[in-house]
Amino acid sequence: MSGRVRIPVEQRFWEKVSRRGYDECWPWLAGTYPRGYGKFSIAKGDLEQKKAGYMGAHRVAFRLVHGRWPENALHGCDNKACCNALNPAHVHEGTQQQNLQEMTERGRRAYGPRLATNKVGADSTWARHMRGKTENGDANHHP
Ligand SMILES: [Zn+2]
Repeated sequence: MSGRVRIPVEQRFWEKVSRRGYDECWPWLAGTYPRGYGKFSIAKGDLEQKKAGYMGAHRVAFRLVHGRWPENALHGCDNKACCNALNPAHVHEGTQQQNLQEMTERGRRAYGPRLATNKVGADSTWARHMRGKTENGDANHHP
């Protein structure tokens, strides 16, 4: 046994993903969380993590593709096990800050007459995301 040979985290990760075309979902092939998100075990020291633990595979996919951690990694597609962070239509970043900013702007506009209905429109993806959450609930347990 050569003992100290460590498989790079990138390799460990991508061999559990079925990487397909740019416009397709990239399904996670290993274990998932009860909600359907891919579950990836990270070792201490991997990808700037101070301790070992599990992480959402779509988050790790975003980190490996973009070289930084997203505040929130969201799915534009309805496939929670999807790891296609290359295509924002599948996995994209949504920050808490963006949400707050949009809310503040909407609040300001509400001062003008009728302008409050002029929504920012960018929250459709988020709305879809939330809807998916409630529809699927925890029903899709992994066997
Ligand atoms: Zn997808």
